[in-house]
Amino acid sequence: SHIGVDLAAESLDKAFVGGEWVGADSGVTVAVVDPATGRNIGSVPNMGRAETHRAVEAAAAAWPVWRALPAGERSTILRRWADLITFYQDSLAELLTAEQGKPLAESLGEVGASAKFLTWFAEEAKRSYGQTIPTDRVDRRLQVIRQSVGVVAAITPWNFPSSMIARKAGPALAAGCTMVVKPSEETPLSALALARLAEAAGVPAGVLNVVTGNAREIGEVLTGSPLVRKLTFTGSTRIGKLLAEQSAATVKRVSLELGGNAPFIVCDDADLDAAVDGAIKSKFRNAGQACVATNRIYVQDGIFDRFVAAFIEGVRALAVGNGATAGTDVGPLINSGVGTQMAALVEDAVAKGACVATGGETHAQGDAFFTPTVLLDASDEMACCREETFGPIAPIMRFIDDGEVVRRANDTSYGLVAYCYTTDYRRLNRFSEELEFGMVGMNDFSVSTESAPFGGVKESGIGREGSHYGLDEYTEIKYVCVGGL
Ligand code: ADP
Repeated sequence: SHIGVDLAAESLDKAFVGGEWVGADSGVTVAVVDPATGRNIGSVPNMGRAETHRAVEAAAAAWPVWRALPAGERSTILRRWADLITFYQDSLAELLTAEQGKPLAESLGEVGASAKFLTWFAEEAKRSYGQTIPTDRVDRRLQVIRQSVGVVAAITPWNFPSSMIARKAGPALAAGCTMVVKPSEETPLSALALARLAEAAGVPAGVLNVVTGNAREIGEVLTGSPLVRKLTFTGSTRIGKLLAEQSAATVKRVSLELGGNAPFIVCDDADLDAAVDGAIKSKFRNAGQACVATNRIYVQDGIFDRFVAAFIEGVRALAVGNGATAGTDVGPLINSGVGTQMAALVEDAVAKGACVATGGETHAQGDAFFTPTVLLDASDEMACCREETFGPIAPIMRFIDDGEVVRRANDTSYGLVAYCYTTDYRRLNRFSEELEFGMVGMNDFSVSTESAPFGGVKESGIGREGSHYGLDEYTEIKYVCVGGL
């Protein structure tokens, strides 16, 4: 019975390889810290090359059996995994907040999203359709079948430590792939908890492996091994480029979900309340630590003063604190080092002419907490507008006409998501076509859902996750030419 799966932080102290819970060969562990309190809440194995090779071999050995199962059977197992996640959602959310910091309500939302990704792909598992192409010769038939790519390596970040794994494991396992997951060293416990529930759901040994520890060594084996056929990565553009380079030697397929620099455009004709609400939530959820977080806000001249007044009022009302405390809107940053980076971004902006309307400094809660910040008189040259901030800083700029703001919004090496608030249908159409981003939120700030394709263009990444497109990333197209008919 699944009742009684132990998801306590202290008990998640082993990695999961070939269906066994194992430590590092060296016996060495790495501590996991609650960013809100600075306290150790657990420890995980500090693994390296040898353990990673074993995990890859376990996944390779499990592949032929897993891919040969009827799709309906893989679907049932994935569905059972999703149901267990829902059953244990409170424990999973508490664990997530403890290691990552986000408010408990957001953690519950993320765990819910994990279950939804797995449920969605449990259904899609049965719909990996091929094609028959009209023949070019009477004596032959042209067929296309879809097959699993093989062993998949997933390297995942700390900002969404649960859903970023489910969004990859769902389609991979649905397609018939097996996996080695390397979670972020900051947040390995949510990954291990998911693995424990996968085991309870009946995912066979070796199909899903989780290794923890030395990112560089594990990454070198995952990208270097010829047994690994695909790398899926979510994280920074810098590490994404490095891993793509490392994957080139074995011509691996790669999916990359990298950084963003989301513009949030508010037109004169926007619904003011909706725009203010959208800007606050898209900027300050997860303390701004999201690749889809609003990075820079462009407000049109005619609505500027009203928007700014309401936005500042809303930001001042945000409650900063421990994510485990009821009523907290903004939790800690992942560590105090990020707090120092935020202070440097504010300093750069002020030196270039910005004025701090609210916030701008470390919060009384501690070094890992940064006060939600609004910068006025910001400009496109400031680091907080050019780089991905990944924290609670909102620079606001003014614009006059549509062509100008589209040009400024597109003037970035990133291309993940853009937001735009307008009630004019012609503008809505023009903006959604002209913004060079993989996703556009028109009058909506919450674009991520299991049923839609998530992903970026330019240096924000390659590939899409979620929706039926997300399954394609884990399948190969095989063309079968049947002659002699
Ligand atoms: P973030 O800004 O989200 O921390 P990173 O790109 O640093 O972004 O981290 C995302 C994931 O990449 C984490 O799991 C991290 O451990 C991993 N990672 C970081 N450096 C490397 C590396 N050199 N090789 C492989 N994985 C790495």
